[in-house]
Amino acid sequence: AAALSVRHLAKQYANANKRVLDDVSFEVPKGRVLVVVGPSGSGKSTLLRAIAGLEPIQGGDIALGGEVIETGRPGSEKAGRSARSSELRTRIGMVFQSYDLFPNKTVLGNIMMAPVLVLGRDKAEVEREAIELLKRVGLADRKDAWPHELSGGQRQRIAICRALILHPEVLLFDEITAALDPEMVREVLDVMIGLARAGQTMVIVTHEMRFARAIADEVMLLEDGRIIERCDDPERFFTQ
Ligand code: ADP
Ligand code: ADP
Repeated sequence: AAALSVRHLAKQYANANKRVLDDVSFEVPKGRVLVVVGPSGSGKSTLLRAIAGLEPIQGGDIALGGEVIETGRPGSEKAGRSARSSELRTRIGMVFQSYDLFPNKTVLGNIMMAPVLVLGRDKAEVEREAIELLKRVGLADRKDAWPHELSGGQRQRIAICRALILHPEVLLFDEITAALDPEMVREVLDVMIGLARAGQTMVIVTHEMRFARAIADEVMLLEDGRIIERCDDPERFFTQ
């Protein structure tokens, strides 16, 4: 089965008169990278948030490795989040545009929080793994720093470590370089390229077209909440 399957997903916000996502279906095989593009307001963020369990869905379902983890419930518009358990939530990681590190925790504290508190994993073992991840993103020397002491690019790399330590089956990225100064974009994109090479399954929303072309196994174009085009030849997609 595919690492991620989204079938006939329907999403409507409370107080809205139409669906933001309508009959969206696609699969991402294990180890593959899907890049989602589309105009502002087409539903890209909403799609990632729905997959991550941050938004209730009203129709369709979402499966990981063939196991359905969420089914749409008509009338669930007003629920704050999906009904997914916190354990199921940890199987999908998400990194956002605005780095959401906890300001009152160090780098290590930020990375260790979910595995220790949510999954109850052994602290010493989690710390060793956190330090390995920090090495991988080139920030081992900042393990005791506070978020406000870091650059935007460094914070995003920490946010990626915080997602990775949960060993997510799928990792979602929503415009994670959009708010960064240009000189910091490269270091974050390089980390993502490294993850792709290591076989991490990912869904990426980005406006960095050259990066998208380089990293994508497949590109999906969203418009007005519907899939307009899918292409497994990113080279052709981005130059046509
Ligand atoms: P994109 O990421 O492609 O820019 P979004 O998923 O952010 O698109 O938004 C899709 C549509 O849903 C837009 O019309 C947006 O205004 C609307 N929308 C996004 N979030 C909410 C929300 N929390 N409540 C109501 N409408 C929303
Ligand atoms: P993005 O395109 O990355 O979603 P936006 O600026 O459109 O960024 O949205 C920022 C935040 O505002 C998101 O949390 C989104 O859910 C929310 N939002 C967007 N549009 C609306 C809307 N029409 N009503 C309520 N919340 C919205």
